[in-house]
Amino acid sequence: MEPFTFRNGELYAEGVAAAAIVEELGTPCYIYSRAMVESQWLAFDQAFGGREHLVCYAVKANSNLAILNVLARLGSGFDIVSGGELERVLRAGGEPSKVIYSGVGKTVREIGRALETGIHAFNVESEAELEQINQVAGGLNKIASVALRVNPDVDINTHPYVATGLKESKFGIPIDMAAGVAADARHLPNIRLVGLACHIGSQLTEMAPFIEALERVLELVDDLNDSGVDLAYLDLGGGLGIGYYDEQPPEPDEFVMALMEKLQTMGTRYRHLQIIIEPGRAIVGNAGALLTQVMYLKHNGSRNFAVIDAAMNDLMRPALYDAWHEIIPFAQHSQQEAYLYDIVGPVCESGDFLGRDRELAIAAGDYLAVLSAGAYGSSMSSNYNTRPRAAEVMVDGDRFHIIRRRETIDDLMSPESLLPESQVVK
Ligand SMILES: *Cc1c(COP(=O)(O)O)cnc(C)c1O
Repeated sequence: MEPFTFRNGELYAEGVAAAAIVEELGTPCYIYSRAMVESQWLAFDQAFGGREHLVCYAVKANSNLAILNVLARLGSGFDIVSGGELERVLRAGGEPSKVIYSGVGKTVREIGRALETGIHAFNVESEAELEQINQVAGGLNKIASVALRVNPDVDINTHPYVATGLKESKFGIPIDMAAGVAADARHLPNIRLVGLACHIGSQLTEMAPFIEALERVLELVDDLNDSGVDLAYLDLGGGLGIGYYDEQPPEPDEFVMALMEKLQTMGTRYRHLQIIIEPGRAIVGNAGALLTQVMYLKHNGSRNFAVIDAAMNDLMRPALYDAWHEIIPFAQHSQQEAYLYDIVGPVCESGDFLGRDRELAIAAGDYLAVLSAGAYGSSMSSNYNTRPRAAEVMVDGDRFHIIRRRETIDDLMSPESLLPESQVVK
């Protein structure tokens, strides 16, 4: 579906004019389409047909409570990477029994809390972590269900910061060491090894690396089977990309069907395995946009700048990954002359741009929408330069709801305190 469209030359999100949202809330402001979030999740879920499966939305892509709640209402599971994300899922009405806990650095406290709430399983990333979980579970008189997150060493064509499946990556257990770790796991009394997991990276636009990773993980399933380990699930991670520019990744249903087809051709012995996937970006990425206003136009000799009121603290992806986001005006028809603009924010960093060399016919005061900003936008935002974080809005048909109020300067300073007054020494 297309959440953002033009009607009579004016930008709409579902049935709401973008202009109506900024009139009420100001800018910068994130907006999300509920219908798009739901249809993406449902496309993943329904493509499994009768196969036992769980779609665990990767919370870090966008962890707003209302987004989690919308997905929880559909019956979604959740992939979390911190204790904070676990609390968000619980507060949003997610079921702990559908939570997968990933990440290389789970603390003792986080492990304990996850065990108390009864999560589905931990995806374990090292032998040391396995022993830690065993110990914490022992102290609580619980058995921890775990999957080994293996690193299948497949090379993928994505930004190096989001490639996680290479040998040199900090993530996962090298696949050739996994059988050894599985054998050790059997001697840990408070561990139940129930699955294997992998997650090879993010913004992947082809099926081939996913298929290659699946093949390697299935070989390991066979090895473990031969040594008497019977697994209940395979977690194939997230990472399916979206179209930011001209990428044409598989659609969610094509992605799932390609995996299912591969599984079928590999034989009937995997039929009982529950399949878990952890999509983040593909569910929320294209459902969101960042709305911003042009404050000043600057023509510096050879370059033209549009200084906007959103910045790298609101949307870090261009500065961090040199990522490209489409930027469009709210109004399609303009009397202005078009120039090539660098779209820059007010933050004091040369890396503070949201787009470069964009042909736009704009004037100061015009509004712009930065598209494909639903994933790793607000969840990566910061208060750098003491900038309050943007408001967030969920559009639902012809209505919209504030799902995060704009921060105030007081919100930012309230955790801080001054030193006591200095004592006068006589
Ligand atoms: C980040 C992450 C995901 C989600 O990745 P997307 O590219 O947003 O789909 C899934 N699983 C794990 C373990 C992750 O770290």
